[in-house]
Amino acid sequence: MRHPAIEPLLILQDRELMRRNLAQQLAGIPGDVALVQAKIDAEKSAIETAKTKGKALESKKKLLETGIGLAEEKLGKYRTQQSLVKKNEEYQALGHEIETMEGEIGGLEEQELEVMYEIDSAKEKAAAAEAELKTNIVGHEAKLATLAERKASLATELALAEGEVGHAREPLGERYLRVFDRIAERQFPVCVAISGGNCSGCHLKVFGENDSVVRKGEELATCDQCGRIIWLESA
Ligand SMILES: [Zn+2]
Repeated sequence: MRHPAIEPLLILQDRELMRRNLAQQLAGIPGDVALVQAKIDAEKSAIETAKTKGKALESKKKLLETGIGLAEEKLGKYRTQQSLVKKNEEYQALGHEIETMEGEIGGLEEQELEVMYEIDSAKEKAAAAEAELKTNIVGHEAKLATLAERKASLATELALAEGEVGHAREPLGERYLRVFDRIAERQFPVCVAISGGNCSGCHLKVFGENDSVVRKGEELATCDQCGRIIWLESA
């Protein structure tokens, strides 16, 4: 005969399994939220990086402009000096300086032009990257909203499941509940069937003495090896 506590214990175990599954899913939500949040942060920092490149080019352009300004100032001075000198030698020496300065300015202006092209292309790239990243962020934020909904519905389901566990505990006496809770702390499932003479929790043989306790059904039998409550489907 099957021990009378087996049936309600199996029901309690079933409800407890449901409760545990829900609690586990709920416990996983903050981790999922953190992962999505990390993706959003990464997208935002990628936008910043794209913008930083453009800013660096702008600074480079400003430096070149300053360089050109200074060179032009010098050039102006040389020209003034040249118009004032009397000696041919000095005139030619200044003419040489003027040529060098003009060459320098030409070089700087070329560089400035290149930087301006780079700025345009960096701006285009940054705008395209930003548009893509913003779309990604919208997707991530939708995921966060879904997770928040899931969290709320899991919390509701968990509260219901806890109620079910409470109901399932009602028909069981203090003594059996204590046994159940003690085993459940360490291992789950708590009640396992004997299958082919073995405990289906630890898969080890159930010995004769214990086997007859299970068959008689007068006492609640536990597996010698793993300590789970054992029962026989045919009993
Ligand atoms: Zn066992």
